[in-house]
This record gives sequence, structure tokens and C-alpha cells, in this order.
Amino acid sequence: MILFVNARIFDGSGAAPFAGEVLVKDNRVAAVARTEGARLPRDNAMVVDGTGATLMPGMTEAHAHLSWPSSVERFVPGMSLPAEDLLLNTARNARILLDHGFTSAYSAGALGKTIEVSLKAQIDSGGMPGPRLLPSSIEREPPNETAYLAGGSVAEHGKGPDAMRAFIKDCAANGAKIVKFLLSGESALKPGASMQILYTEEEVRAAGEQARESKVWLTGHAHAAQAIKMGLRNGFRVLYHCTYADEEAIAMLIGRRHEIFVAPTLGIVQATLDATPPPQFDMSHMKADAAIVLECQKKLGPILKNAGVRLLPGGDYGFPFNPNGRNARDLELFVRYLGYTPTEALVAATKFGGEIMGMESELGQIKPGYLADLLLVSGDPTQNIAVLQSKENLRAIMKDGRFHKVPGTNG
Ligand SMILES: [Zn+2]
Repeated sequence: MILFVNARIFDGSGAAPFAGEVLVKDNRVAAVARTEGARLPRDNAMVVDGTGATLMPGMTEAHAHLSWPSSVERFVPGMSLPAEDLLLNTARNARILLDHGFTSAYSAGALGKTIEVSLKAQIDSGGMPGPRLLPSSIEREPPNETAYLAGGSVAEHGKGPDAMRAFIKDCAANGAKIVKFLLSGESALKPGASMQILYTEEEVRAAGEQARESKVWLTGHAHAAQAIKMGLRNGFRVLYHCTYADEEAIAMLIGRRHEIFVAPTLGIVQATLDATPPPQFDMSHMKADAAIVLECQKKLGPILKNAGVRLLPGGDYGFPFNPNGRNARDLELFVRYLGYTPTEALVAATKFGGEIMGMESELGQIKPGYLADLLLVSGDPTQNIAVLQSKENLRAIMKDGRFHKVPGTNG
């Protein structure tokens, strides 16, 4: 048993942090004492002193790309690595996310069909450090001349509803829990593409039907209003970006707020604006697009938040200028741009994180019976959300009742 004492407790619900104690037994929270001076039994417990720190639930990355190569530890100039390097690097990125306080990851696509399924098995059997992982397959885009991502062309896939069904069946048979489609394109990579719809209604309907049958969740990359609506009509559970949502798309998102999750994906946008590339690498088009996207998100975010749509941090980390490990910056960007208080951003990363993982009754909050995924953070993130961005501020990281980072071992 492990007993946290003297820390302020932010329980993930959105309530103000309170003084108290938290007891962990096996892999779950056994008891929470909520009042000043309240004491839980100390017998046989390892006592962790949290003076000056906040105890909070571990965070969830809602747009994880563990196989995207770059991280805060390793700069990779492009997107492709030799197969062996790609595999090991992906496993390393899983450890890096956990090192930075992300105890759960909802995948937004991988650079191989079964990388994440294999990685999850390694993590869950206790052999490798990494977050709880909902594994995805490759990101699917329709056959075309210039694929956006190396991953999009890894698997053979044709056009039409039957090809969509076959692809989903294949992903499910491989163990993927999530299948991601690029419903519209990406202007950052191909000018104008964010407004292009890449699939027909018939294809997306077939995908929705097959996903329900195969018991996988659908995720969509959707900038264009029509792409958002197409996803919502056909049972997509997670939509990324939603940049150009029009009134009808906004109304549909609000109507489905109890089923849908949205990750605006601000990290990559900010990183594009901040990047100072070498002279031979022209990012002027990407930067112009990012500026437009950010303006749209600044208008859309508060509307969706105030209407009760669940927006989650998750920012396409893994690109050379937006490395894995920097993920907690998304929370600050919610505060800076979308009208979130630090507490609201924390709820989005914790309570909503448990919900997007499909584990809302046992993950994402500090409550008796909940899984013990906990962070002991120096300072108070409900006052200064940026403290989460330095891993040195994470005094302890616990996943499933075990310390990934033992308190007192900062380095
Ligand atoms: Zn992405």
C-alpha cells in the first residue's frame, strides 16, 4: 500500500484542489480523505510526502502518434525510418510519453498496421514502460498519387464501400481498436486539401456499419465542414481538427456531445508558427495555413466548450518541429486560445481522458475504486498549467498502482 500525504489533491472532477490523503492498494485508489488534518491508516503503507505538490490523475494524449519518429530526446529530420529503427523508436516514444505524465494514449494512427498492437501487448504484460494504449492501425486515405504520409500507403486498399469494409475487418483482425480515416485532406501538406472530401458518403457509411460490426471505433481527420458532418452522420467517435465547422456542423457536434470527442490539435499549429527551419526548408505555406487554422480554432473552441462538447488536448506530436514528449503544451494552448481555465484544461486531460479511453467508470479521476494512475506535481497546475511541461516537476509518476517514477528520484 502507498499513502500520499500533505499534497493538495486535484481529483480530476473539476472541483478545487483540497487537502487530504490518498491511499493506493494494489492497482487502485482505496481511499481518499478529503478534509484538512484527516488521516488514513498508515499501517504497512509506504508514505509519500507531497508537501508543496499537487496529486492529480495521469493525463491522456488524445491524438497520439507514438510511431511518428521525433521526440524531445531524438530529432529525426523526416518521417521514415528503417523498420527496426521505427519499431524501437516507437517503443521509446511510449516511454517518453509516460515520462512526461501521460499515462494513457488514444492513438491517431501508426506508421504500420500492427506496431501499436504489438507495443500494447508488450506494455500491458509489464515488459515495457508506456501509457495505457488504445492501438490504431495506419491512417487510411484513398488511393492517390502523392500520399500524405508514408503510413497511408503501407497497406493496399481500393476505392468503394467494399474496400472500406475489407480494410476495417483487416484492422480489427489485427487487433486494432481504432481505425482512422482522413475524411478531408490536410492543407499543411498539400495546399487547399483541407477543403477536399476524400471519401464518398457511401464509403463512409459502409465504414460506419463495418466498424459497429467489427467492434472498432472510428476516428476522423476532418478540417472541412462536410467532412465533420459525414463523420457525425456515420458514427465516428472522435474527430480531429474540425477547423472549418459551419453552423450546421457545430449544431451536429453539440447534438452528439455525449458521444463525440474532439481534439482541435493545437500543438502542431503552434509548433508550425514557432518553427525556425533552415533556409533550404520553406515552411511559408505551412505557416500561413497554421495562422488561418488558429484563428478558426480560437472562435470555434469556446463555442463548443460552452455547449458541453468534450474537447481534449492532443496535438499531433512526433513531427520534427513538434516532438513527442512536448504533449503537455496542449493544455497551455487550451488556456491561451480556447477560453479554458487551467482547471478546465486539466479536466479535459484527465476526466475526459478516461472517457475517450472508454474507461470512464475507473480512469481519469482520483476516487475510491479508480485505477491508480497518478502524478505528483511540484506546484499547482490549477494556477499555472505550464508546470506540467517540465518533467522535472513530476516528482512521481504512477501507472496502475506502480511507480514509473519513484518519488525522490528526479533526474
Ligand atoms: Zn495526426
